[in-house]
Amino acid sequence: MSNLQPNVLIVEDEPPLVELLSYNLEKAGFQIHIARDGEEALLAVEERKPDLILLDWMLPYVSGIEICRRIRRNPETRNVPIIILTARGEEDDRIRGLEAGADDYVVKPFSPSELVARVRAVLRRTRPAFDKDSLTYGDITMDLTTHRVSRNDEPVDLGPTEFRLLRFMMEHPGRVFSREQLLDSVWGHDTYIEPRTVDVHIRRLRKAMNLPGTTDLIRTVRSAGYALDLKEQVA
Ligand code: CA
Repeated sequence: MSNLQPNVLIVEDEPPLVELLSYNLEKAGFQIHIARDGEEALLAVEERKPDLILLDWMLPYVSGIEICRRIRRNPETRNVPIIILTARGEEDDRIRGLEAGADDYVVKPFSPSELVARVRAVLRRTRPAFDKDSLTYGDITMDLTTHRVSRNDEPVDLGPTEFRLLRFMMEHPGRVFSREQLLDSVWGHDTYIEPRTVDVHIRRLRKAMNLPGTTDLIRTVRSAGYALDLKEQVA
């Protein structure tokens, strides 16, 4: 399940602060990546799209405001939530940060629990499935604590990969994902797997989900990818 823990990129150059942030966010169940300057941050974002970025304003090489602008300019990362960390009293920084596209800001020094609460709040706003115990879509129900899946109240038996795949699609219903996007989000960026593997698992998922009397909710979009889509049921 680790790939579905929200992934937070910490961009901060002060080691004690990096330590404080990593410790508290990991304890709260987040996956952490760290960048110690602006260049590292841009590389990290390119390598693996985070679910949220904690961005310090005063950084060596590339400033926080510039990073924020570049992330917002890139269509791939345009919607990644950004919380900026600013020093007390730097009112201008906060305003410029929000103008550059940041979603929220936290003033240093901050209490770790307040920061974690802000991270959760931004994630809830931008990713509605965050923090839920179960997901439902159409006649599918997924219990995220027991990992039980049912369709039309009938239990569905899924392998771990099919479960993660379905969970990801249920978190973003109706959206079309390419094989590469599914690999990145469900399998993780570090593993090397052929995009065609996705087709194999989609086939298994369909086979398990399509109980007698139900329709196929997984839409294959030619040369684009797959989507979980109720509309198919109506057609
Ligand atoms: Ca700094």
